[in-house]
Amino acid sequence: MSQRTDYIILGSGLAGLSLAARMVKSGLLEHQTLLIVDKAPKQGNDRTWCFWEYGKGFFENCVYHQWPSLQFYSEGFEKDLDMYDYSYKMIRSGALYEYCYSILQGCKNVSFLYGEVSFHQSSRGNTEVRVNDELLDLDGALVFNSILTKEPEHRLSLKQHFKGWIIETTSPSFNPNKATLMDFRVDQTEGSTFVYVLPLTETTALVEYTLFTANLLHDHQYDAALRNYIQQYLGITLYEVKETEFGVIPMTAAEFEFYKNGMYHIGTAGGQTKGSSGYTFQFVQKQTKSIVNSLLHRQKLQQVPAAGSRFHFYDRVLLELLVNRTLEGREIFTRLFQQNKAHRVFKFLDNETDLLEDLGIISSLQIVPFAKAAMRVM
Ligand SMILES: Cc1cc2nc3c(=O)[nH]c(=O)nc-3n(C[C@H](O)[C@H](O)[C@H](O)COP(=O)(O)OP(=O)(O)OC[C@H]3O[C@@H](n4cnc5c(N)ncnc54)[C@H](O)[C@@H]3O)c2cc1C
Repeated sequence: MSQRTDYIILGSGLAGLSLAARMVKSGLLEHQTLLIVDKAPKQGNDRTWCFWEYGKGFFENCVYHQWPSLQFYSEGFEKDLDMYDYSYKMIRSGALYEYCYSILQGCKNVSFLYGEVSFHQSSRGNTEVRVNDELLDLDGALVFNSILTKEPEHRLSLKQHFKGWIIETTSPSFNPNKATLMDFRVDQTEGSTFVYVLPLTETTALVEYTLFTANLLHDHQYDAALRNYIQQYLGITLYEVKETEFGVIPMTAAEFEFYKNGMYHIGTAGGQTKGSSGYTFQFVQKQTKSIVNSLLHRQKLQQVPAAGSRFHFYDRVLLELLVNRTLEGREIFTRLFQQNKAHRVFKFLDNETDLLEDLGIISSLQIVPFAKAAMRVM
């Protein structure tokens, strides 16, 4: 398959489209060409992205709803989180895909190829990319890959799995300006388990039941937990389920290499899913922004965050505690939000704090188990 091009992006989900849209918007593709490869064009709301953000982001006009206030609940503890200037935002994937295609289709130097991508070792030891079994010409192209073919193995790995319902009630039941970030009052038998509630109007909300555990549940268990929560904690008995979302996000301490097999790895495949929280959206934005800046300035592409960053170490410590259940997520997140202002926690979880700020947060946690876990992962 000979489609000679300057850049190739394999996988056009969140990372592939974010990178491509940023390339076009930056002017990088005025005289260079980009080929985007995926199984099929992306469309529809196959996922909902939520994240906190300070100010406006690249995808601001895709934001479906945002909350200036958040609440946190745990056993015997509840708190209105001090958001400072952060807002909690929701983007539905359909809007982001549409927005990106509108940018890409306006650029004559972007083309698309649809088919199943597979990776092979050539007899000379190079990685070959095939699309529907036909060899893709990579010659001279800078290749970015967001297709995760195999989850990296590591003893410190969990799955973040969740099922959510968008429910509609007949009478006003929610405050659309206030969301629940985490509610840990639910049963913790399986492992760290919480619910979040994101009201969209006074009568509709996304209610999502989330676990950080090694194994998935049966579908009827998520449904039963959602039903219980809506009745017991939201006090709602009459409602209709309008939409359903199910997802699994890998949480792992495994190291992801940015440059490997002749290509740069982006998105989840490039280690942009935070090992200890599963949050990915904002890390993908930082990574793709950094790539485009480097390309524009003809600089070497940098891994974000750098390999061996202290934030990877913090993620490993937290995973060590969660995997072994030395401390439960409920205990850790409760202490985190009890002892610290939420905007500081957000900055820390975004890998943006300085060492002094880290020490402030770390010293507010359960020192002995954290210190022991730190020794084990060093
Ligand atoms: C349901 C769900 C909800 C999530 N919610 C949040 C959230 O609220 N906040 C947050 O920060 N993160 C969230 N995440 C995690 C993360 O943001 C998403 O998984 C995000 O889509 C990752 O982006 P990506 O580009 O790495 O992967 P994807 O968006 O999955 O893109 C990978 C692309 O590769 C293509 N592809 C895969 N295999 C092949 C193949 N063999 N051949 C051709 N194409 C292929 C796929 O079609 C896809 O388009 C969520 C994940 C899921 C699954």
